[in-house]
Amino acid sequence: MADTYQHYIGGEWTDGEGSETFTSTNPATGETLGEFHRGTPADVERAVEAADAAEEEWQTLSHIDRAEYLWDVYHELRDRTDELAEVVTKECGKEISEGRADVVEAYHMVEWAAGDARHPKGDVVPSEIPEKDAYMRRKPRGVVGCITPWNFPVAIPFWHMAVALVEGNTVVWKPAEQTPWCGQIIAEMMVDAGIPDGVFNLVQGFGDAGNAIVEDDAVDTVLFTGSSEVGQGIASKVGGEPGKLAACEMGGKNAVVVTEAADLDIAVHSAVMSSFKTTGQRCVSSERLIVHEDVYDEFKQRFVDVAESVAVGDPLSEDTFMGPLVDDDQVEKFGKYNDLARQEGANVLVDREDLDPEEIPDGHEDGHWVGPFVYEIDYSPDLRCIHEEVFGPHVALLEYSGDVERAVEIHNDTPYGLAGAIISEDYRQINYYRDNAELGLAYGNLPCIGAEVQLPFGGVKKSGNGYPSAREVIEAVTERTAWTLNNSKDIQMAQGLSADIKTGDDD
Ligand code: ADP
Repeated sequence: MADTYQHYIGGEWTDGEGSETFTSTNPATGETLGEFHRGTPADVERAVEAADAAEEEWQTLSHIDRAEYLWDVYHELRDRTDELAEVVTKECGKEISEGRADVVEAYHMVEWAAGDARHPKGDVVPSEIPEKDAYMRRKPRGVVGCITPWNFPVAIPFWHMAVALVEGNTVVWKPAEQTPWCGQIIAEMMVDAGIPDGVFNLVQGFGDAGNAIVEDDAVDTVLFTGSSEVGQGIASKVGGEPGKLAACEMGGKNAVVVTEAADLDIAVHSAVMSSFKTTGQRCVSSERLIVHEDVYDEFKQRFVDVAESVAVGDPLSEDTFMGPLVDDDQVEKFGKYNDLARQEGANVLVDREDLDPEEIPDGHEDGHWVGPFVYEIDYSPDLRCIHEEVFGPHVALLEYSGDVERAVEIHNDTPYGLAGAIISEDYRQINYYRDNAELGLAYGNLPCIGAEVQLPFGGVKKSGNGYPSAREVIEAVTERTAWTLNNSKDIQMAQGLSADIKTGDDD
């Protein structure tokens, strides 16, 4: 990449109003990948105006015609999967199979949304009055503002945008500042598909541009995926504005419960995947492993053995399991929480925070390298290290005794409720967990990662207030109308309500 890349507003590539630029950096090498214009609130305002102006015409198209644009994007995503996978990996540091899965998930989402265009769009609902026809119909909300994070830089934007567009909304999107190159390529795909001017708008930039989307009165729905701090702020700001809606998906302090009835091969495999895939930087990554005392020692030894040896390295290499952290801030946060765990009494079992120089691949000395940090600690509700999200390979082993109720009690003792897993061969334990763990995404005998677009994705408690993702996004980007039509000349009311008009002359 050579030039300074632009915003895409109202059907035109533009430098925008601001004078600042920013760069995208490869977290594995420190290499600059590209330079981008930094969007300002004024750029966001223009983009929202363009989206607002395009809305009416876009809505004259049928769902099926709108979906045609998305099918073009789908084919381009499929044709360019390997190329885009490499860009994902270079820009956010995820190892290459994860980079690829990100693109695959994106085209699955586009396929789902475009395919859904041919499915029924509402419900025919019975009325108490035989002469009445009742329906639930959906209408697009209008302008949808999409604010996305860096860790799924292709999939999450399509979680937000694909359904929103097919349903008849227009979009203003701000990608994460760490992954603007992926944003650029997605915008180029929209342009290649010939999407009408103003229907899709891209503003590159930071939190101030995101905030301008949130605060713009002409934005009807804000879809946000990212940190809890930012998401809570958005939810409370938008919540105070009548007619506006925010659907936010945020982080977690997720856990895997391993009971005394667990198959330990499945337990260790699931825990390693849950804690170390994406170097612990998924919102569903597990930073707590809650393990029954009867199997604790064996599980600990086996988990620690893998954590000691799990391959950290060049994310473009097929042999790598963990790439780097995304940036310096994340490395610093990881270090701080590792120190905090020590201060709070952790017995450290694996400390690969500072990797040995020989573990860092040649030419990658400027990358943001860390390995797993694993510790055991006695559970206490007062410990910060087992309650606050780190977003890195920082993992606490918590031993419990007693029945599955106790494990679930510890599990639920966090302000979050996004993802989790139980490993057990006892269906009663599994069902207890299913019914009582406070979560949006729950797994049995699996890692707590691995969402599919046709399932809802989102959390409870501090992890989310809506579902800006996968199929549930329909609720956030459409309004429902209860439409009732009278086929009779008489007006009849439900609930036995009298329709007689009484006047003073009636007696
Ligand atoms: P992460 O920790 O995953 O980087 P953030 O919540 O910081 O999560 O960022 C997610 C997205 O939210 C990014 O696109 C970022 O630029 C944007 N963002 C950050 N701060 C704000 C804000 N105050 N208002 C709106 N968007 C914001």
